[in-house]
Amino acid sequence: MEPKNILTVNGGSSSIKFALFAVGEALQRIFKGSIERIGLPDAVFKVKGAEAAEDFSRPVVVSDHMMAVDLLMDWIEDRIGRSAVTAVGHRVVHGGAKYCEPQIITEAMVADLKQLAPFAPEHLPQELLLAEAFRKRFPDLTQVACFDTSFHHTLPRVAQLLPIPRKYEAQGVRRYGFHGLSYAFLVRELARVAGTEAGMGRVIFAHLGNGASLAAVHYGQSFDTSMCFTPTAGVPMSTRSGDLDPGLACYLAREEGMDPAGFNEMVNSRSGLLGMSETSSDMRDLLEREKNDVRAAEAVAVFCYQVKKWIGSFSAALGGLDTLVFSAGIGENSPQVRQRICTGLGFLGIEIDEERNLANAAVISAENSRVFVRIIRTNEEWMIASLVSEKLGLALGVETTYKEGAT
Ligand code: AMP
Repeated sequence: MEPKNILTVNGGSSSIKFALFAVGEALQRIFKGSIERIGLPDAVFKVKGAEAAEDFSRPVVVSDHMMAVDLLMDWIEDRIGRSAVTAVGHRVVHGGAKYCEPQIITEAMVADLKQLAPFAPEHLPQELLLAEAFRKRFPDLTQVACFDTSFHHTLPRVAQLLPIPRKYEAQGVRRYGFHGLSYAFLVRELARVAGTEAGMGRVIFAHLGNGASLAAVHYGQSFDTSMCFTPTAGVPMSTRSGDLDPGLACYLAREEGMDPAGFNEMVNSRSGLLGMSETSSDMRDLLEREKNDVRAAEAVAVFCYQVKKWIGSFSAALGGLDTLVFSAGIGENSPQVRQRICTGLGFLGIEIDEERNLANAAVISAENSRVFVRIIRTNEEWMIASLVSEKLGLALGVETTYKEGAT
């Protein structure tokens, strides 16, 4: 039988991240990598293979996403042959109200998504361009869109509806929520490591990376989430502001003549940890500097304080809390940040065990903690591959449950 491989693709404005998974007894990652700084003179092609000897990083000339796809597919064909890719799974930032599950990409669907471009003008058009680049090169290749918003289609109306004039809702302006592929993975993974009952309980997932959001989940379904109509909302992030006073836009327009594009650039690229610290958007840098630089210390403090507030707010929304899960770069790797977020949450039943926390253990709550506090490493690429293989029936009779170390 022909081997079946799924290529996952996550396209950004100037980068493509990719991974190839073999559909076998489990989904096994063959390699992952990225093409970064597309269109710039110092573009780079990086690959991390199953073994360290396969890793490389080399300069390349790629002027646009079309060229990047050609470069990637030439390399894949060279390495594992012409029919190496059975299907491509794309991470798509926005599926609007219509697309609640993975969807095979067709012309009609692309036309639909083009209508949604104003909702995510910096991401959606690039993602569609990538799908088009694959279609041009391999017209018969099946491509599947996996939406970052899908997981949140269960949001109750009270969490979806924004308190602005109703006519905007008719235009699709409401809370959608993002990081859905990560949350979908974390929900499955929680049930796998902690059992079905824990997976069905009242859970807050804190996906804390460069992009950061929280989700309140019950019965495995999203009840609320901190990102909103765009991924700029919620907690402060590496360069995004998170929630602000809506009056700020008007103040800056009046006082500084800031236009909508300038405001958008400020809240997405010059705010959050970078804006507050004036030095770095990277949590590791700030933790290193915080003793000597009050701006770094305040940036970390505001981040932890805001995440703590969202945990309190979502505990109220869920009517109590059974499990808190930390994930993504900061959530998985920073004992200091987790400790600061959880300090003072004893009233909710959250008690951290210092040693387990320092060791980045799978369970970091103390024995007497009423709430289980866990760290789960997220894996959005695996989730895309798994959704594609389910959608296309590639995994029929094959185990696609996540296996630690398999990817
Ligand atoms: P991600 O977007 O999930 O890759 O997360 C990136 C963020 O995780 C950056 O702010 C990093 O500084 C942060 N991060 C990664 N490792 C650590 C660490 N050991 N301690 C603190 N922050 C970390």
